[in-house]
Amino acid sequence: MEKKPFVTKEMVEKIAQTYPTPFHIYDEAGIKARCKAVKEAFSWNKGFCEYFAVKATPNPFIMEIIRDAGFGFDCSSEAELILADAVGGPIMFSSNDTPAEEYALCAKLGGIINLDDITHIPFLEGIIGPEFPEIMSCRYNPGGVYKLSNGIMDNPGDSKYGMTKEQLFDAYAQLKAHGVKKVGLHAFLASNTVTNEYYPKLAGELFELAVEAKNTVGVDFAFINLSGGVGVDYRPDQPANDIKEIGEGVRKKFEEILVPAGMGDVAIYTEMGRFMLAPFGALVTKAIHEKHIYKEYIGVDACAANLMRPAMYGAYHHITVLGKENAPADHKYDITGSLCENNDKFAIDRMLPKIDMGDYLVIHDAGAHGFAMGYNYNGRLWSAELLLKEDGSVKLIRRAESLNDYFSTFDTTEYGAKLIRN
Ligand SMILES: *Cc1c(COP(=O)(O)O)cnc(C)c1O
Repeated sequence: MEKKPFVTKEMVEKIAQTYPTPFHIYDEAGIKARCKAVKEAFSWNKGFCEYFAVKATPNPFIMEIIRDAGFGFDCSSEAELILADAVGGPIMFSSNDTPAEEYALCAKLGGIINLDDITHIPFLEGIIGPEFPEIMSCRYNPGGVYKLSNGIMDNPGDSKYGMTKEQLFDAYAQLKAHGVKKVGLHAFLASNTVTNEYYPKLAGELFELAVEAKNTVGVDFAFINLSGGVGVDYRPDQPANDIKEIGEGVRKKFEEILVPAGMGDVAIYTEMGRFMLAPFGALVTKAIHEKHIYKEYIGVDACAANLMRPAMYGAYHHITVLGKENAPADHKYDITGSLCENNDKFAIDRMLPKIDMGDYLVIHDAGAHGFAMGYNYNGRLWSAELLLKEDGSVKLIRRAESLNDYFSTFDTTEYGAKLIRN
């Protein structure tokens, strides 16, 4: 199935008059529709809440849309906590290797602390004292290899997150002794799963574990947090996840396992980032050079500093040449940025229509873990972020970084005056 960009050539030409390329742009209507679909898929669960993983798209104007859907925020750093507090909404703090100040801030903001490790219990006591919040959560790591039937695999045994089962049960007992009234259980075992099977399988395992913890440790569960990991169809030939079917799969496990155990009041939480936002953000860039050596190269005005996933993971991001949607894809190109790093390629050996200088390219599915992973190598600057509103207007939701921003941390040195201009 061909991927259709949510902006047209005419729209981008108009936008670029005010906001030059490259820029990230987000689709408000798409985000709203996604929130609604997620809400409906889990409407069978009374306490359901999606805690949007702020790290995916840490922009308060995007977070507002998610808040207005009645959702909250999953944070794991001070900056993310501050953003979530500024926007408003419930907070889940699923951090790891957590600095003391961040636990203190989360406790102050009333967020739910999701402990990554059993040793964080005495660490936390050293920060907030022996009386813990009424609701707290623990992160579980089953070890080994996590396999799904479509061949997707991940490796919890190699991952730094979570506690062993033994530690988990011990942690629950200790939390009870610290005055915790109800607990949560959290696990993130596979990333970017493009299958409807992941959440239901994970839910089944966590539900069984929660029943066992209730029976052996005597803890009451407020929620089970399925965390993130629901993927998107980056490639046009991949079938998209169906959140309705995923929600139904989780419901079946809930009715099979939790309801008979007298745990039918447990809330289901999710912490999706990618599934909520990836398809609703795009990096828009312009072709500025063509180069014919041993391969055909198109140089664009964006680079890996604006979208790192292809360079970092060899990730596929679909590309549309605007205005040439129906032209035959009969040219093979590497699409490159300007970094002095040969991995700065948005696409390698990609079949695309003939690209002319000045053509606008839409790099799809950049709405999550896209702009957010940016960096400043080679002195390349962060782009602007724009929001395409439902009414068709465009709002600047973060300006592009300037050279003064880039040089600003020299301000206290002798070079400050030389580098920073007014
Ligand atoms: C990154 C992360 C998420 C979001 O993951 P996605 O793959 O974007 O859904 C959720 N929870 C935690 C703890 C994370 O680290």
